[in-house]
Formats: sequence, C-alpha cells, structure tokens
Amino acid sequence: MSFSVRFSQLNLDDLSMKLYASTAADVERALQHPSGNLNSLLALLSPAAQPYIEQMAQAAAQLTRQRFGANLGLYLPLYLSNLCANECDYCGFSMSNKIKRKTLNDAEILAEVEIIKSRGFDSILLVSGEHETKVGIEYFAHVLPLIKQHFSYVAMEVQPLKADEYQRLVALGLDAVMVYQETYRAQTYAKHHTRGKKQDFTHRLDTPDRVAKAGVDKIGLGVLLGLDDWRLDALLMGYHLDYLERHYWRTRYSISLPRLRPCTGGIEPKVLLTDTGLVQMICAFRLFNQQLDISLSTRETPELRDNLLPLGVTQLSAGSSTQPGGYQQPDSQLDQFEISDERSVDDVIVAMKTRGFNPVFKDWEKAWGVNNVNG
Ligand code: SF4
Repeated sequence: MSFSVRFSQLNLDDLSMKLYASTAADVERALQHPSGNLNSLLALLSPAAQPYIEQMAQAAAQLTRQRFGANLGLYLPLYLSNLCANECDYCGFSMSNKIKRKTLNDAEILAEVEIIKSRGFDSILLVSGEHETKVGIEYFAHVLPLIKQHFSYVAMEVQPLKADEYQRLVALGLDAVMVYQETYRAQTYAKHHTRGKKQDFTHRLDTPDRVAKAGVDKIGLGVLLGLDDWRLDALLMGYHLDYLERHYWRTRYSISLPRLRPCTGGIEPKVLLTDTGLVQMICAFRLFNQQLDISLSTRETPELRDNLLPLGVTQLSAGSSTQPGGYQQPDSQLDQFEISDERSVDDVIVAMKTRGFNPVFKDWEKAWGVNNVNG
C-alpha cells in the first residue's frame, strides 16, 4: 500500500464540488469538531468559511500556544547546487534557463556552514536542484557527514530517492525530508513539469512512503500555491497527511505553504491566493492537526510574516539565500526564486520578541531520533 493507491480512490471532481457547495452550517459543524476530521478540513478550506476567519484565527492561535508555547523554530536553507535535469516552468533552476550553474565543493560548503553557524543556527535545510548523476546519492552521502558535525538537525529538500538511499542517509544523520508535490492535480502537474524525472507524478506522490519507511524524524509536505485551485490542493495535501499519520505514526510531519514567486523564466499564478486565503489555510490546518509543524519561508513580506506568527506557524527561515554559495557571495544571481523578507536574522528576532515569541535555534538532540523506524 502506498498513498497513490489511496489517492486513486479519491474523486477529485466530487471533492471540488463539495468544497464550493459547503454552507455556513457545515463550517459551524466543522468548528465544533475540527481535529483529524477531513470533512471538517474541507469545510474550513471552503469559501463558506471566509466569514469565520476571525473565529478560526483565535482558535488556531490558542491551539498553537497550547502545543508549542511561544516558541518559534528558526532554520536556514543551504543551497548545495543549482544543477537540475528537470524543466519546471515556475523555477529559476529549470534546465533550459541560461544561468550559471554551480555545485558546492567541500571547502565551499564549510565556508557557508561557518557563516550560518556564526548567525546562531543549529537547524539546517539542504537544498539542491534535481540532478541525479551530478548531485545524486553519492554526493549527498559524502557531504552529509561533513555538514552533520555542525548541526543538531539536518533536513533535506532534493530529488526523490530510492528507499535504500534514504536508509543510507538516515544512517549518516539525516533527520528530515521535505518533498513537495507542487500540485495534486495530475493534469496541471503535467503542464508545469515538461522534462526530466519529475514528470513522474506517481513516483513523487509515493516518495513520503519511502521516506517514512527509512525512519526519518520528520517529513515535510507542500504544494506550490498558485499552480491550481489552492483550496483543492490544500485539501488533498490534508488527505496525504492523514494517510501518512495513520500508516507511519512514529514520524512527525510539517507542511509548507509557498506561494508562487517571480523567478528567471517564471510564470504567473493561475489562481491567486490572497493574504486572507493564506491565513484561512494556516488556521484550517492548525485546527485539523494540533501537532503539525507549519513552516513559513522568506517568500512572504516582513509585514505578513510578522502578522502570521501567532496563528499557527511554528518554524521560519530568516536571512535566507536561495543560491549555492549565497551566504559568501550574496550577489551572484543564481537564485531559485526572489525572496520578499530580506531582513537580517537579528531584525527577525527583534520582531519575534516584540510580539512575545521565543526564537529557538536548537530543539533537537541526535539521541532522540534513535529507533524511529516505521514498521
Ligand atoms: S523545482 Fe526543483 S526540479 Fe523543478 S526546476 Fe526547480 S530545482 Fe529543478
């Protein structure tokens, strides 16, 4: 059994119709019993929930404080390479984009690590384009121990790997894997992914199953908001999360809610997600799942990021670079996408503390991850 089997049983047209046919009574019922209930998640993501956003925000803020206190985890991405063998029309790293390509060597990685550590970070997200032959398992297996010596928590956002490759990386200290489906609509997926292995929608859909079986601490799901109807994509991500939690209960989960951002050769969003829509989505997921980590990237503006902090967000990046070598050479113009929040880490920390939040750089010890293998 893998998620693609469960997914093939879902009637997406029916779910879409139900989303848009939800009523105020459905939303009020959902607010009574939101936790772990997919019907409630559907109602809370629907247009009918818009008049209830204030109520949802208050409940989401309260649940988040109960579970996470005033703590907000901080992490930074470390871009290892912008080589990519795929064509995704929303991404600056797409194969046909005429940009300078770079893969960091050991010395360059350690130079980036030194800068990231000097800013206080102890949690890192390793990112690369998807290039199996030049930036594949052998490269990851080589650089992971080098990086792991310096960080308590190492997550990875790279191409989908095989089950035994994930096991190999977990043994080398990998703690978390982020694997974003981008969109759960197969036709839309095919339209935006026109070359390379990422074209295989089902293989990507089943990647979190392989990751979970390898015993990582946490799996991150995500959709690229704007590729298709965000309400349905968010609901289907909820179905994915629900399936994973039932099958791999030892694993923790996070979601990321990136909106399409401008990039080299990029596209305009098909469906615009407003700030209010983003708030609705964050609140709906917090009401649905109290344990879930919700991550906010520097794609959003400083003002919006600060305002979203109380509602359900538990992790954020600050002072990010989205290019390989970008912490040493910030102006090399190899970025994956433009960032909106360009504040320094110190400025983000001041903003967090002003609002009563506690920035957390370290919340993990290696020994906690032992014996986390899902059966
Ligand atoms: S989204 Fe990922 S796979 Fe697609 S072009 Fe960008 S880096 Fe490559």
